[in-house]
Amino acid sequence: MDRYFTYKQYLQQRYGHPVYRVGVDAGFSCPNRDASRRGGCIYCDSFGASAAYQRGSEGDPGYIPLSCRSLEDRLEAVSQQIDTGIAFLRQRYRPEGFSLYLQAFSNTFAPLEELKQIYSHALGRYPFTEFILSTRPDCIDEAVADLLLQYRSQVSDLWVELGLQSASNETLEFIRRGHAAEAFSEACVLLRSRGIKISFHSILGLPGEGPAQRRETAEFITREHPEALKIHNLHIPVETDLQAMYLSGEAVTAAVPRHIEQTAQLLISVPGDIVIQRIVCDTPAHRLCAPKGFAPKGQVIQMLSKYLEEHDLWQGKALGWPRSDTGGRNQAYEYLR
Ligand code: SF4
Repeated sequence: MDRYFTYKQYLQQRYGHPVYRVGVDAGFSCPNRDASRRGGCIYCDSFGASAAYQRGSEGDPGYIPLSCRSLEDRLEAVSQQIDTGIAFLRQRYRPEGFSLYLQAFSNTFAPLEELKQIYSHALGRYPFTEFILSTRPDCIDEAVADLLLQYRSQVSDLWVELGLQSASNETLEFIRRGHAAEAFSEACVLLRSRGIKISFHSILGLPGEGPAQRRETAEFITREHPEALKIHNLHIPVETDLQAMYLSGEAVTAAVPRHIEQTAQLLISVPGDIVIQRIVCDTPAHRLCAPKGFAPKGQVIQMLSKYLEEHDLWQGKALGWPRSDTGGRNQAYEYLR
């Protein structure tokens, strides 16, 4: 039995079968990458997050990021990515459902009309189960939240993934997030009041962070209580300021045992009904400086389960959540519905 609320378990409870994400780069950018903001987060490379099956040409010489192309080109690229993604996933998994996942950069950072055209186009391409998009908290305002709400009835669930990374404002400043933790809380109010579900991203092992900052982040997550959480180990992408820090010894990456220990500590310190959507980062090899040779995801999951078992730990234990995954999580399921 899982000692934390896995994404697989959540999807099974919610839909009765797995639902696969079709990751799409819709050509958005990010306000934090402007020169005026000193080029973005210290770990941001020029590609943004993407699904493995959509990375075909990004390393090619002459590659032009989608954000530099016309809206027509972007809409065409969105259609192609959806078709490619669905074909790939069908061949591999025999899925019964797909979610549209606008993944790269800040997917609410554009004029409302442009957002509308892209969302409507993408959602019109296939009867998706969920609509999930990643963005920054400072790219959510009343108008954007209202626009998102318009798509609520087209899908079973509408999710916004927000990059928290750390709740320590000192760390956020150091990594140049360009917003404080308070902006995060404000975005959560706007989304939650419209019934939009929220997933937080958190990075373990950021430079300068120790037990006090990790505790602060766990307390923030508990207070804000998102429906889901993605936990990442620190990755050092190539050609980033973080890489320069790493090469000069100012930043380090965790080995697997340390990441597992810190992940377990975070898990026991957050509510047991938060869906854990991820426990390791996933940067493509050609964009990754460090860590090299980290265990594959499946192995890390197994090692985490073993660690939790051996130390008799479970999600929410430090907050008094019960060990059983039939009580609190079923209530969570009702809530999530
Ligand atoms: S918020 Fe994301 S896209 Fe924007 S600068 Fe930071 S890592 Fe890059």
